[in-house]
Amino acid sequence: MPKIHALSSVLADQIAAGEVVERPASVVKELVENSIDAKSSEIDITIQESGLQSIQVIDNGIGIEHDDVKNAFKRHATSKITDREDLFQVRSLGFRGEALPSIASVADVDIKTSTGGEGTNLHIKGGKLTDEEPSEARRGTDITVKDLFFNTPARLKYMKSPSTELSKITDIVYRLAIGHPKISFSLIHNRRELLRTSGRGDVQQVIGAIYGIQCVRKMIPFKGQNDDFKISGYVSLPELTRASRNYISVILNGRAINNQAISQAILHGYGSKLMVGRYPIAVINIHADPLLIDANVHPTKQDVRISKETELSNLISDNIYQVLSKQNLIPDALHRN
Ligand code: ADP
Ligand code: MG
Repeated sequence: MPKIHALSSVLADQIAAGEVVERPASVVKELVENSIDAKSSEIDITIQESGLQSIQVIDNGIGIEHDDVKNAFKRHATSKITDREDLFQVRSLGFRGEALPSIASVADVDIKTSTGGEGTNLHIKGGKLTDEEPSEARRGTDITVKDLFFNTPARLKYMKSPSTELSKITDIVYRLAIGHPKISFSLIHNRRELLRTSGRGDVQQVIGAIYGIQCVRKMIPFKGQNDDFKISGYVSLPELTRASRNYISVILNGRAINNQAISQAILHGYGSKLMVGRYPIAVINIHADPLLIDANVHPTKQDVRISKETELSNLISDNIYQVLSKQNLIPDALHRN
């Protein structure tokens, strides 16, 4: 009698969810990335109780065809890549086809989506389809995730304080808004508006909406490029610092990433201008040929491998060093006159 058998798809999805859906902020990240990939110009995020009660993301993107909605909840089902070549040059934020089935296996999901005509409304709880109805014909997708981790008590216990979970949510939404200034974002938590961006393509406006107008006044723009990378962003004057690196946002081809080498390159650009233990506020958008980037390192795709990372780091340090040096010259020049 054989002892080895394939797991049920619901159980397999729950196992994948362990990696993809670590906490409420992971759900927010995956849903918002889907909305960005769907070419939305407006994304509205409404959260209750740090996301443990509910997370709703409404977009005005391309929507999902009626016959495809159930496929979207199958594991490794995606509209974004097809073959091996696509995997080596991913242009979308998603491509693994894991998020929706993972989320639906550990929560209660309601999705209303339409490509313009009559829409579809599905309700899936713990990986099981419980309801299917037509819905209104507003182009876009409206997805609500409730009772996250209702069937995985161990994961629920592992949640940090509501304020920590909320800060992880704002953190990812802020970064995605910085990376996509042409999309108008709103973020509301327990009826309080935490972010609203104009969608006019102005990164400075996004920074102002996040950090306040006082900070914007103390941030200076930089940009540069070499054969492989194009960079642009804002860095705070050395007088405006914070006690953690958390105010450094690195966006690579629209994806918010964690990358030690790039953060370090930004700090390098300050030379000896920062006090020990102090870090700048900085945002950087990097555009690279997708062939140079491997985002298939971890299911959350926040760690990526970058070819020519040293060249990129030098480009960043040199540009930031130059703009900061020029800033220092201005008071000197005034002095001399
Ligand atoms: P991935 O993003 O890796 O393709 P997901 O599980 O996140 O996998 O989504 C599965 C599919 O569902 C996507 O490939 C896309 O076709 C569709 N989809 C998900 N969210 C949206 C959305 N907001 N608008 C349009 N299509 C969506
Ligand atoms: Mg996705």
